[in-house]
Amino acid sequence: MQNYIDEAEKVLLHTYNRYQVVFDKGEGVYLYDIDGKRYLDFVSGIAVFALGYHNKEYNDALKAQIDKIIHTSNYYYNLPAIEAAGKIREISGMDRVFFTNSGAEAIEGAIKTARKYAYLKDGRTDHEIIAMEHSFHGRTMGALSVTGNSHYREAFEPMIGHIRFAKLNDFDSVMAQVTEKTCAILFETVQGEGGIYPATEEFMQKVRRLCDERDILMILDEIQCGMGRTGTMFAWQRYGIKPDVMASAKALGCGVPVGAFMMTEKVGENSLAAGDHGTTYGGNPLACAAVCKVIELFEKQKVLDNVKEVGGYLGECLERLAEEFGCIKAHRGVGMMQGLVFDRPVGDIITRAMEKGLVLINAGTDIIRFVPPLVITRENVDAMITILRESITDAVFGES
Ligand SMILES: *Cc1c(COP(=O)(O)O)cnc(C)c1O
Repeated sequence: MQNYIDEAEKVLLHTYNRYQVVFDKGEGVYLYDIDGKRYLDFVSGIAVFALGYHNKEYNDALKAQIDKIIHTSNYYYNLPAIEAAGKIREISGMDRVFFTNSGAEAIEGAIKTARKYAYLKDGRTDHEIIAMEHSFHGRTMGALSVTGNSHYREAFEPMIGHIRFAKLNDFDSVMAQVTEKTCAILFETVQGEGGIYPATEEFMQKVRRLCDERDILMILDEIQCGMGRTGTMFAWQRYGIKPDVMASAKALGCGVPVGAFMMTEKVGENSLAAGDHGTTYGGNPLACAAVCKVIELFEKQKVLDNVKEVGGYLGECLERLAEEFGCIKAHRGVGMMQGLVFDRPVGDIITRAMEKGLVLINAGTDIIRFVPPLVITRENVDAMITILRESITDAVFGES
């Protein structure tokens, strides 16, 4: 394995400090490295592979689509895209869908939608977007501009202009940033990279009311927290409100690169028009065949029920672990998007867990994030907790 890792470090741009493992295949909730060692996976490629690896029906659907056609241009219609958009409408209640290749691109599209919507109203080009501190929306220049973490942005300034930052769950901080130029308020329903912070119901409803009163677009980033992860198809569906625009990706295609931004009919009619936006690959037949099958399998396998039940159990177990260890400062999250906040960097704990056959990931330096495949069982949770407990004990009390 070390030879491959050395080779990788010669040919790949070093933009990640990677864990010292080469994964080769997956089966259900397990990953295998190239030496055949098995790992229980509580990361799922960062909230992507919701259905577990090597799902036969999913694989078969993709193979069948490959044998038909993988790509045509967006200048033509294709059946998987029509079907996938229809299914997304059903699960989201949004009316219009634009397919992208990634989450960041979905955010780019949402930003362009907001700017065009405002431009059509008053012809001005100085509209502002309010985003949140500690947010994460992706690495392209527009998505980076609304990402509230200067560490990601600093070397790449200047960002796109007219972005103001407020604090999630602090409505007064939002009000303090609102001006007559505000065209959108954008945030993650549950902040992911920023540390697993769910928006409060009060915050969601106040932002919704504000947006209604001033014709500001409420844009929710559901790229990580959407697609069933919190127990509803989209996290905002727990709050009794509806955004004007939303972005999805990650588990939307369960591994095939695909994202989407969606909007209400009103926004669709009054924003992006022919010629305003496009993509070569976005929404190609292969990607959309994946989306169709994913949504179908979510229903067939009752994934949401499993998230509610086993996600609840995961929460109880993590809560107990937090009480057991003084080094765990807090436990947050909902469904299968949870985090443990430590009083120290978590890299050592994660590395030790990896050695013991458990894949975990951080969020920031001091939080372990739990975003497993949505099909995990209680037994998987128990197995994870056992290894995690050992790893924390070793890391904290010095055994090796
Ligand atoms: C991962 C993520 C993105 C970016 O998605 P990419 O597909 O990596 O571009 C944006 N927003 C949130 C909340 C994410 O978790």
